[in-house]
Amino acid sequence: MDHLIRQKTIHEKLSELASNLWWSWQPDVTDIFRTISPAKWSEFGHNPIPLLREYTPEKLEVRAREEVLHSRIHGAYRRWLEYMADDDTWGDTHAGVLGHRPVAYFSAEFGLHESLRIYSGGLGLLAGDHLKSASDLGAPIVAVGLFYYEGYFQQTVDETGWQREHYLVANPSDLPLREMKDKDGKPILISVDTRSSRIMARIWKCEVGRVPLYLLDTNIPENTPEDRQLTARLYGGNSRTRIRQELLLGIGGLRALTALGVRPHAIHMNEGHSAFATLEQIRLRMKDDGLSFDDALREVAASSVFTTHTPVAAGHDRFDGGLIDEHLQPLFSELGLSHESFMGLGRVDPHRSEEPFCMTVLAFKTSRHANAVSNLHGVVTRRMWRPLWPWRSEEEIPIGHITNGVHVPTWLAPQMRTLYDKVLPLNWHLRSGQPDVWAGFEQVTPGELWETHEALKGRLIGYARHHLTRYAQRNRESEAAIAKLQNVLNPQALLVGFARRFAPYKRTDLVLRNIDVLAEMFDDKERPVQFIFSGKAHPADDLGKQIMQKVHRLAQDERFQKNIVFLEDYDINVARHLVQGVDVWLNNPRRPLEASGTSGQKVVLNGGLNLSILDGWWAEAFDGQNGFAIGTGITHANQDIQDQRDNESLLEVLRNEVVPLYYQRDADGLPQGWIRRMKRAVKTLGWRFNADRMVMDYVTHSYVPAAGGTSCQMPQMA
Ligand SMILES: *Cc1c(COP(=O)(O)O)cnc(C)c1O
Repeated sequence: MDHLIRQKTIHEKLSELASNLWWSWQPDVTDIFRTISPAKWSEFGHNPIPLLREYTPEKLEVRAREEVLHSRIHGAYRRWLEYMADDDTWGDTHAGVLGHRPVAYFSAEFGLHESLRIYSGGLGLLAGDHLKSASDLGAPIVAVGLFYYEGYFQQTVDETGWQREHYLVANPSDLPLREMKDKDGKPILISVDTRSSRIMARIWKCEVGRVPLYLLDTNIPENTPEDRQLTARLYGGNSRTRIRQELLLGIGGLRALTALGVRPHAIHMNEGHSAFATLEQIRLRMKDDGLSFDDALREVAASSVFTTHTPVAAGHDRFDGGLIDEHLQPLFSELGLSHESFMGLGRVDPHRSEEPFCMTVLAFKTSRHANAVSNLHGVVTRRMWRPLWPWRSEEEIPIGHITNGVHVPTWLAPQMRTLYDKVLPLNWHLRSGQPDVWAGFEQVTPGELWETHEALKGRLIGYARHHLTRYAQRNRESEAAIAKLQNVLNPQALLVGFARRFAPYKRTDLVLRNIDVLAEMFDDKERPVQFIFSGKAHPADDLGKQIMQKVHRLAQDERFQKNIVFLEDYDINVARHLVQGVDVWLNNPRRPLEASGTSGQKVVLNGGLNLSILDGWWAEAFDGQNGFAIGTGITHANQDIQDQRDNESLLEVLRNEVVPLYYQRDADGLPQGWIRRMKRAVKTLGWRFNADRMVMDYVTHSYVPAAGGTSCQMPQMA
């Protein structure tokens, strides 16, 4: 048989599917992998590559026959080929000017799937969802990041409730990564010179549907032992590690694209970590096109996009002159700049010599398209960075906002998707960023919606019990104690979820401040309330760890054990279960410190209701009937008073609005008022807080103008 026309085997087809992360947002493909071996699927952390390695083609044939998988595999493979070959996408129509020169999207982290641990929280998840939507829409993007082979830590919690961090070394051959090589088959290496050494890196390609993600990795023999560790961990080390990682991400990242023959039309910096990329772009323009520094800066800035995420001054990366000199001197000499003029690029006031070098300031000064990530965050950001444009009034500061959204196919439960398919227009998922597409959700029958939600909630509760049992077994708890875990969480009772990083401003313990009031609500026989928590504290954040310890202790306390649950090791998988199964998603940051928040948007898609402070995305999403608000959006200057007030408002809304509405049932046991809110949430929020809408906004309002070189006024330079 001629191998060119030979049908591919199912093993070959599945291996190809496993090599591109597209599978991860196709529930049916995920289900094929799981069906091959549920035990192995779980053992390998939902990673199909080692799973398929366990199966020879013959063994897979047998298994596929047993489970009747052949036509599903052929169908999935065909759909994938069609997806990759589609040349009539939204991007083909709307991003044509980008032509064959894509937008280069830089981010320090990418949250794509639980098996690729190169993310820590919201910033990474946002970047991951951005790439997936860009792929679905056919928006021409290439992405650049770092391959952290030890990733972000895995969390365990000891008996005292203290967080322990563990790092597992990932093997690239177990991941959907391909090393980039030249035509002679030699690895392509890039280098960045510091004043004292040369940092080298290889390049991995990770395919995210149609979008390539290039990840730099310094773990190669050409580097010193210290530099081999440079890309080991996300957000590890000290500020020297940090500047070296950022040097690699920005300058190394753009060099990697150059080495691969990619010349981007525009640069998009997702947060300031990658801001050195614009300096490399300036260097290239000076070298290749003979521009002066000032001209190159003007042109590069006109084609650069910057998204800022941090509404607290202390949260921005700052480096002292010594670190800057050690790492940037070779570059700024080549640009013809002195130490002082270079430092000025990272200072609000270029001449204030005690001001350190701030990556966010550099990003603002080298990009003409800057945005915050929600309407309110835009206001806060303009106020915060106003000194960069001292001649302008606050409203005229050239920082807009594009509110974050989530990638629907990633976060929507398959059961809920079946409901969507019944009432929304055909191929709704191809146009999910448009409001009219969601109007049909009104037609869902209340009973069907409620049953689907109850099924997902049951799944979450089962998952939580399993999780707790594993924890108890590890801690050698008694048989009796373990048996009792099967009664933890009541499927009939209102379930409130809270999971996010234990950053103190997120106030995970806010609802627990008044535990006596809460205990009354737990003990209410008719209308009980229960909570499920999860989250990690940054390894260096002892305050965050103390908050976690408090939550964990209450969850272990005999009195509250059935009503408060803490799940270890928050990651994308835990998040998926939570956002798909809770009745209510609680969010109570100290306003206005939550730039956007996205987990609540994932909850909306699955029929959960948000109960949130009017901060971030919720400040522009809440309309009085599509969820619940805590407080009125007014803030007190004194933090303790604010916390006290917010705790009171939270308990009040919970007791007087959320609980009564949830338990108000009709003759069929349906909470009709609650279901009306579920529907309203999906209809009014699904299209807006959606990564397709977000990417369309970036293309229309940032990328296309940046590629065309449209510019607005520069910040204070000298
Ligand atoms: C969505 C998500 C986040 C971000 O949630 P916030 O609401 O911004 O805190 C963080 N971690 C994981 C694992 C997520 O899935």
